[in-house]
Amino acid sequence: MEKHEPKYLDPRGRKVKVLATVGPASRDPAMLRKLVRAGVDAFRVNMSHGEHSDHSQTIDDIRTLEKELNRPIAIFCDLQGPKLRVGTFKDGKAVIRHSGHFTLDRNPEPGDETRVQLPHPELFGLLEKGQRLLINDGKIQLTVIRADENEILCSATVGGVISDRKGVNVPDAEIPIPALTNKDRKDLAFAVEKGADWIGLSFVQRPEDLAEARKLIGGANGAGAALCAKIEKPMAVRRLDEIIEMSDGIMVARGDLGVELNPEEVPPLQKKIVNKTRIAGKPVIVATQMLESMIESPAPTRAEVSDVANAVYDGADAIMLSAETAAGDWPEEAVTIMDRIAAQVERDDAYLERVRFLDTPPDRTTADALSHACATISDTVNIAAITVFTGSGSTARRVARERPSVPMLVLTPRLKTARRLALLWGAHAVMTRDIGSFEEMIAKGKRMALRHGFGAAGSKLIALAGVPFGTPGSTNLIHVVTLAGDELERHES
Ligand code: PGA
Ligand code: MN
Repeated sequence: MEKHEPKYLDPRGRKVKVLATVGPASRDPAMLRKLVRAGVDAFRVNMSHGEHSDHSQTIDDIRTLEKELNRPIAIFCDLQGPKLRVGTFKDGKAVIRHSGHFTLDRNPEPGDETRVQLPHPELFGLLEKGQRLLINDGKIQLTVIRADENEILCSATVGGVISDRKGVNVPDAEIPIPALTNKDRKDLAFAVEKGADWIGLSFVQRPEDLAEARKLIGGANGAGAALCAKIEKPMAVRRLDEIIEMSDGIMVARGDLGVELNPEEVPPLQKKIVNKTRIAGKPVIVATQMLESMIESPAPTRAEVSDVANAVYDGADAIMLSAETAAGDWPEEAVTIMDRIAAQVERDDAYLERVRFLDTPPDRTTADALSHACATISDTVNIAAITVFTGSGSTARRVARERPSVPMLVLTPRLKTARRLALLWGAHAVMTRDIGSFEEMIAKGKRMALRHGFGAAGSKLIALAGVPFGTPGSTNLIHVVTLAGDELERHES
């Protein structure tokens, strides 16, 4: 592969996107602005915490900011999902003795060091001897000795302090609870109403979970919010292909995944999930504890820097910050460092060689072939940018899948599409009016490339489009054009 020095860089100096979680540490509009300036492309609103009134204000503030900064920003509303929790304790907490017995039951009275309520009737009679219950992010491990309709008697394989409403993970069983709790349904309705671009679905176990959410989101193809399945259950890993098929994007939710599985199983899975999602041409986010120490410290550990860099080398579309930006002391610093790490990786020649897409899925279309050709053309001649015209965003996804070496300027008449693409690798989306003809499309592409600094006089652009216009899936045309440099003036006169 001959390498041309790119003359025009992506506006952020990187193609990987940064998703940051909003919370008390960042929801002030001035901080939101700082975070976008520092490199945030999309914000996660975590429905596990806070009230609708706060989230509503946050979403409004992000939209105001989006207008002010004139760049599409994706809003990712993350539903809590069926997170299991224990009940409460007489003293707010209790110590479970190492190797001792502990019982989970249906009695709502406050618990003690021998027992506590488990307010999830589905689990009784379902769990079997030898299966594990992990409490408080796996810090306490209980192993079932005996379980019936009323009681789950466990041995504390790992003891410790348990307190009110701590989370419970049950990695060894498929739990017959719907993916969406009543709270999730209310939160989903709220998110759709507020125009969320992405909905994150937590603790997905089956592809049907996505079908259910999709039905609730409503709206024909592309009208509603895009759906991201969070892979954090072993069951989801087992049915990964079907889940990817049913989703618009995937999150490697390493926090819960590392509790449900052994932590050392997560790194190989991260690579596998990233690869499979990329082959499907859908964005994949790597999440959780990426710069965890920056919750308290203004500088990351070396290991965290490596972890972020490796997620980028793995080919992720986006990398995520959680508590670092939601509740930490250094939200702006965390974004700045994440941005720098990603940009540094992308300057490494070996990066594109690693992420360049080689596997060819069997069902490739004309559009896939043309997208692939765009990437090879940019390796052969000095191309400043690939310009993509798309309504739904699918052409942009195809091109991104090829991980081309040059910037991708996406022109779309749909704001929804522009926002959604904020999580897609390399996509720089710009709004246009509807385009009526081939000539108009080329002229528009040239003007936008100049205006947004993707090229200058003499630069070559690739334009990828479909004729007739406005027919989804009609991508059938690659045009290589040279900028005269005066397209803006010509248009204005
Ligand atoms: P959460 O999801 O932050 O909503 O738990 C991400 C994860 O589990 O990694
Ligand atoms: Mn999680």
